[in-house]
Formats: sequence, structure tokens, C-alpha cells
Amino acid sequence: MKSVLITGAAGFLGSHLCDRFVREGYRVIGMDNLITGDLKNIEHLFKLKEFEFYHHDVSKFVYVPGDLDYILHFASPASPIDYLKIPIQTLKVGSLGTHNLLGLAKAKKARILVASTSEVYGDPMVHPQNEDYWGHVNPIGPRGVYDEAKRFQEAITMAYHNVHGLETRIVRIFNTYGPRMRLNDGRVLPAFIGQALRGEDLTVFGDGSQTRSFCYVDDLVEGIYRLLLSDYHLPVNIGNPDEITMGEFGEELIRLTGAQQKLIFKPLPTDDPKQRQPDITRAKAILGWEPTVSRAEGLAKTYAYFKALPTEELRKTAHRFES
Ligand code: UDP
Repeated sequence: MKSVLITGAAGFLGSHLCDRFVREGYRVIGMDNLITGDLKNIEHLFKLKEFEFYHHDVSKFVYVPGDLDYILHFASPASPIDYLKIPIQTLKVGSLGTHNLLGLAKAKKARILVASTSEVYGDPMVHPQNEDYWGHVNPIGPRGVYDEAKRFQEAITMAYHNVHGLETRIVRIFNTYGPRMRLNDGRVLPAFIGQALRGEDLTVFGDGSQTRSFCYVDDLVEGIYRLLLSDYHLPVNIGNPDEITMGEFGEELIRLTGAQQKLIFKPLPTDDPKQRQPDITRAKAILGWEPTVSRAEGLAKTYAYFKALPTEELRKTAHRFES
């Protein structure tokens, strides 16, 4: 039985990865400090003998007994509201945390995949973004703590590959959505769905002309799974190229949820990227991967998840525009 350590296991992506690796017959060790993660996302796994959980902050020395074949480093705050609230933890988990896990991978002779992000491209001047683009990042802006931690993460991962011959994989994740996103993480999708369900107007930032391209979580997990098992060590974009403006996205959610409310416009947050769309030529060529879930299908599943949450959960919201 192969074993995999998944950091950020109680988070949105980490928990879906735990499910996938359990299903594939791995022994899964989940790790999380539960700052932004929630045990509810993985409680269904606790009864399984092939699943173990460690409550630990990977920015501190990481110890795992026994053999380890793979490490997936997915621990990090990952929404603008989180890294504005906990900027230093965000910097530490991307830098010190990555260093600790690279050290662990080296000691265990394990292969490591690190979760990077489209944020390494910043507010991009090249569209769509391919992996050869170096990005346009403001290091001292509010997003700098996340963007630069992730850029450092890529640099140190490449250094461990080059110096120690470590087997490394780097996935650049574009906007992803699905069940288990936190309703109050301030991201556009949970924000709009929460507002629709509470009967509030939907808050579009700026004039709503900025674009994003949303990938359903199952597609992302499939791309990550293939990348881990591939022999390719350079960064690979994984995302859905279907691009939409935030204004259109708000209208789409009003139609989907049958909400009576309207869109209202709030100031655009500092350094909010104007456009984002992955160029997935590399993922197609190397992994034979492309997304298969349309936005209509993915949003319907995600909406069903949020709608079934208890009413008190729905009250948890983040009014990002007031801060
Ligand atoms: N956004 C919005 N209303 C909200 C939350 C976000 O219009 O209530 C916009 C935000 O300004 C950005 C886009 O939606 O342009 C995506 O934001 P998110 O925080 O989900 O992720 P990002 O891609 O910016 O990291």
C-alpha cells in the first residue's frame, strides 16, 4: 500500500484530495492546523483504518513515522480575505512550511507535489497565462504575502530538485470551486451563493468587467492526480479556460438560484487582477488532461451543497468590502 501525506487536509482542496487517494487505495495521512480548515470536511474519513490525521502546523518541524511515498503540500490560506487577516501565517506556510516538507520528502525519499497558484502571474499582462509567463506581481500589496510566498515556494522546490535530485511537481491552480468551500472565505462564489440564499443583493466589486475562469473541483483533482504520477517537474497550469466577467457571473447565479435580488457594485479591492484565464496547452500535452465539467453542471452541484447547509451556517458571511 502506497502512502501519501496531504497537508491542508481539512481544507477545501485537501479534503477532496484525501477522498481521491483513499478511493485509489492509498494510506492517507492528513495534516492541518485547522486555522482555515474544518474537520467537518474529513470527519467521514476518521472511521477508515487507512486514514490518519495529525493536528499540526507545518511551519514547524514536521515528523511523520514510517515510510512515505508521496507528499502533497496544500496547506495555506488561499482566499484574499484570509491572507489579509493572517498575512504572516500565509508567508510562513508557503516558505518555512514548504522548506520543512521538502526536507521531509528528502529524508523519506518521497515525491512531493506543491500547490502553487495563478497568483504567481499577479495582475497579468499576458492573456491567457501560460507557464512561461513570469508574472506581474506587487510584492508589497495586500496579495503580496500570498503571491510571493508561492513564488518562493516554486523557487525552493526547483532548488531541491536541482541540488538534491528530489522528485518534485508544481501545479499552478486557477480559480476552483465546489462543495466544501467555506461560506465565509470571501471568495466570489460562496459570497454570491450566500447572498442569494440569505435574500441579500449580490456584491460585485468594481464595474464587474474583471474576468475569472472557474474549474470544478473534481476536474482539478484529476489533473493533480495525473501530474503527481507523471514524470514532469516544471510547473503545469490546471484550470478551466472558460472565462467570464464577474458581472455576468453574478447574473448567472441569480438565474441559477432564482434569487429576486439585484447586483450592487462595491469598490474594487487593491491589486485585484483584471483578467485571468489558464492556457492549458501543457496539461493537455503532458497529462492528456482537460476539464470535463461545464460551469452549469458544476454550479448546480455546488449550489445544492450550500443550499443543504443548516441555516446558522448561512449566517456566517464575510463583508469584505467593509474592511
Ligand atoms: N468579487 C466580487 N464580489 C465578491 C467577492 C469577489 O465581485 O463578493 C470579485 C473579486 O473582486 C475578483 C473576483 O470576484 O475580481 C474573484 O475573487 P475571489 O476572491 O473569488 O478570487 P481571486 O481570483 O480574486 O483570488
